[in-house]
Amino acid sequence: MYKGLALSKSSHCSINSASEAMAASDGTAAPLIIVISGPGGVGKGTIVNALVERDPKLWLSRSWTTRPQRPSEPDTAYVFTDQPSFENRIGQGGFLEWTRFLDNYYGTPLPDVVDGRDVVLEIEVDGASQVKRLRHDAVLIFVLPPSRDEQQRRLRGRGDPEDKVDARLRKALDEEPVGLALADHVVVNDNLDRTVDELLAIIDHHRVSA
Ligand code: 5GP
Repeated sequence: MYKGLALSKSSHCSINSASEAMAASDGTAAPLIIVISGPGGVGKGTIVNALVERDPKLWLSRSWTTRPQRPSEPDTAYVFTDQPSFENRIGQGGFLEWTRFLDNYYGTPLPDVVDGRDVVLEIEVDGASQVKRLRHDAVLIFVLPPSRDEQQRRLRGRGDPEDKVDARLRKALDEEPVGLALADHVVVNDNLDRTVDELLAIIDHHRVSA
């Protein structure tokens, strides 16, 4: 049984228990939480993988999802699970945040141990806003595509059926104003190396001022 998270969608988490669960096991201060959000097709996955490769003090959370695995996706992209297992974990209070996104569940499991590294979450905007409510000092970074054409090209390149691509494009348009209003920082991903440099500088800035 996970500690004290509420079961209902309207109050996903109890602030104290979830924050406690994100604290380091040796009693030192809670790690910085960096939330990367952005519309589908912006390249978030590539960005967060590059981030944790460049900075060993970052720990990338692996989400749970009920979405089927894409043929192009590694097994480690998510914990791929079914709806009953996901709902069971919700019932146990086992998520820091969770949401429904285009007919599937997605959620950040409460980490068992955070070993002093700062935590990176790659999640959509509803989850980002839940995390901000839990941890006001979480750093929310919203990533924008360089152009709509490029975003559409990336979304189509994943091999999803056309109706799913359309739904994701519509969802991306809905998410954008919400994400921009919520964000502490906005970054345009026009070049992967430059974007990662920019994110690392933002993270360092927040580490110094924490
Ligand atoms: P995809 O199906 O493209 O992998 O992910 C769809 C959306 O769900 C993306 O915006 C992704 O960032 C978001 N997402 C992935 N994991 C989580 C999670 O644990 N929680 C929330 N709230 N969103 C997530």
